[in-house]
Amino acid sequence: MPANSSRTAGRHFLQIPGPTPVPDRILRAMDMPVLDHRGPEFQRLGRRVLENIKGVFKTRSHVFIYPASGTGAWEAALTNVLSPGDKVLMFETGHFATLWKNMAIKLGIEPIFIESDWRTGAVPEELEKKLREDKNHEIKAVCVVHNETSTGCVSPIGAIRKMIDSTGHPALYLVDTISSLASIDYRHDEWGVDVTVSGSQKGLMLPPGLSFNAVSDKALKASKTSKLPKLFWSWEEMITPNSNGFFPYTPGTNLLYGLDAAIDMLNEEGLDNVFARHDRHAEATRRAVRAWGLEILCRVPEHYSSSLTAVMMPAGHNADQFRNRTLDAFDISLGAGLTKLTGTVFRIGHLGDTNDLTILGALSGVEMGLDLAGVPHKKGGVAAAMEYFTEKAKVLKAA
Ligand SMILES: *Cc1c(COP(=O)(O)O)cnc(C)c1O
Repeated sequence: MPANSSRTAGRHFLQIPGPTPVPDRILRAMDMPVLDHRGPEFQRLGRRVLENIKGVFKTRSHVFIYPASGTGAWEAALTNVLSPGDKVLMFETGHFATLWKNMAIKLGIEPIFIESDWRTGAVPEELEKKLREDKNHEIKAVCVVHNETSTGCVSPIGAIRKMIDSTGHPALYLVDTISSLASIDYRHDEWGVDVTVSGSQKGLMLPPGLSFNAVSDKALKASKTSKLPKLFWSWEEMITPNSNGFFPYTPGTNLLYGLDAAIDMLNEEGLDNVFARHDRHAEATRRAVRAWGLEILCRVPEHYSSSLTAVMMPAGHNADQFRNRTLDAFDISLGAGLTKLTGTVFRIGHLGDTNDLTILGALSGVEMGLDLAGVPHKKGGVAAAMEYFTEKAKVLKAA
């Protein structure tokens, strides 16, 4: 923005991996008078969203909705099924897995944390080793982040379920899908997940402020004997009012109007089409990154994320300086490197309500920003993405 202007024209490019841009239709759906959360109109809304959200998680079981960010749903998942001193098995996929582990410690849970280099999703074989060593079944839960938002690596959630089954270990299976739900294929029931944690501000295209626990019967049963203190997060407090469409305390009423609209939009597009769109945008982004001659942080191609791509800066160049220069010049927000990746990585978010041209706009911003910030790279990233989108459009038309 020029120094003599207080307005930036056009749309800000919010290309961070959450929060994501909120579609106009959702903004309009939320632009409603606040209603009585104990009245009949709210009840209709409550019943509708509590029922319809199940399809997004691919579950028939109950989904709890909290007026909280994703961190709250992490805490809800742990406190509802575990007791002080319980052991849990966690995999260090990156910054978010580490935060969940730190939360577990603060809550009085004892995590066994499998370390990694933050360049891969969870490795089933490494989890398997720990489960087989646990002859007395002291591990009460296996916790995995589906899409590690700090690195752009996805963990094989279905394969980890199969591995747990092969060991015969009775541990619960808890999965964080905050940055994968409604962007990357996810199946709560089919993959036998006991608690799925999610949030509103990423694939669901909503503002921050709602989060979710989808729970299996096994998890509900475990909640009956769990001893960690909880009230705000308590499933038990929630489930009876939920059965009538209500909540035990004031829910995020206007966000729920937005959620209602978001679910409709996902269903109209079709979840499989939503996933295919994210796959396409991720592939276009990776082609651009390779054409620039830069390195993708995720080193396991099968674990590439369709929500975001983390890009390594060439040695001697600071990712935050590049991001700031690009924001100043082109009004685009890119994701920062988190904790141990600060300054060495930047992240391109390609999840939520995006289309091929918004992705090309974002990639143009990156390519021009690399030039402005003096980061060594080759030209042609945007051209490579354009070529890929053109090929894809030909195939889609023919199909
Ligand atoms: C964003 C995110 C979180 C944190 O969610 P908040 O809404 O910021 O509390 C946790 N885990 C993952 C994988 C995330 O992407």
